[in-house]
Amino acid sequence: PTTPPLRLNDGNTMPQLGYGVWRVSNEDAVACVTDVIKAGYRSIDTASIYENEEGVGQAIAASDVSRDELFITTKLWNDKRSYDAALTAFDESLKRLKLDFLDLYLIHWPGVSGEGFLDAWRALIRLKEEGRVKSIGVSNFQEKHLQRLIDGTGIVPAVNQIELHPRFQQKELRAFHAQHNIATESWGPLGQGSLVTDEKLATIGRRYGKTPAQVILRWHLDNGFIVIPKSVTPSRIRENIDVFDFKLDAEDMRIIEAMDDRNGRVGPDPAVFG
Ligand code: NAD
Repeated sequence: PTTPPLRLNDGNTMPQLGYGVWRVSNEDAVACVTDVIKAGYRSIDTASIYENEEGVGQAIAASDVSRDELFITTKLWNDKRSYDAALTAFDESLKRLKLDFLDLYLIHWPGVSGEGFLDAWRALIRLKEEGRVKSIGVSNFQEKHLQRLIDGTGIVPAVNQIELHPRFQQKELRAFHAQHNIATESWGPLGQGSLVTDEKLATIGRRYGKTPAQVILRWHLDNGFIVIPKSVTPSRIRENIDVFDFKLDAEDMRIIEAMDDRNGRVGPDPAVFG
């Protein structure tokens, strides 16, 4: 399978489908990341808080696939949201990953107080100018947070990685992204597994010979989102990337659009967490 590239607002490209390693232990990450690269994934999403950057780095170092063909993302944790702490945290992540540059660095959460993320963003801008990271972005930012970054620095994040799946579609925030050319990246794309038994999605899947998980992932791709499903099961790892040989028709897209629920979050709300 191939993972088609998506162009970001800074001119760089990112594979539209990747692999997320949240809740994968440092030890298991070595085997998982090795398996997913073999299965054709080229983009890996980790974070310093996942405590598996070393395992991810070990798998990358041992892989036959060259560094330039891989797209590695990690994230700045909440206790490092200041200029100096962000620069140090970046160095530490890079060291654990055994890399000399990163493809994408994200501020993990804006924080309830709203303090610090603008200074951390200035540090990310510097890291990009120095060529140590190719693209910079954020995660779990709401419209008011994004607006503050833009007003404060003039630099628009390339990506906002947010909880997004058929039960929680974030249409207003997506409209803001579209206006500012910010790529939408979906975390918890399968509703953290809660949507894979949905009967409506199973019915749609039967029309294409695909599983509910594949239907959901196709929905993300057909909407133009970047998507990073997680699984540690080899057959599901292969299933989740086997989504480039079909496209949902307009009626099926509408059925899934109707599943949206503004109370449908499965993860924390950035208004009260982080
Ligand atoms: P997900 O929606 O990817 O769901 C993962 C779960 O779905 C798996 O643990 C498994 O139980 C199930 N699953 C996966 N593939 C399946 C298949 N083919 N069939 C049946 N069940 C299947 O949830 P996630 O792991 O929370 O999100 C993906 C990635 O997003 C994470 O690993 C992480 O990298 C990132 N993430 C980021 C944030 C953030 O705050 N930025 C928060 C959560 C997750």
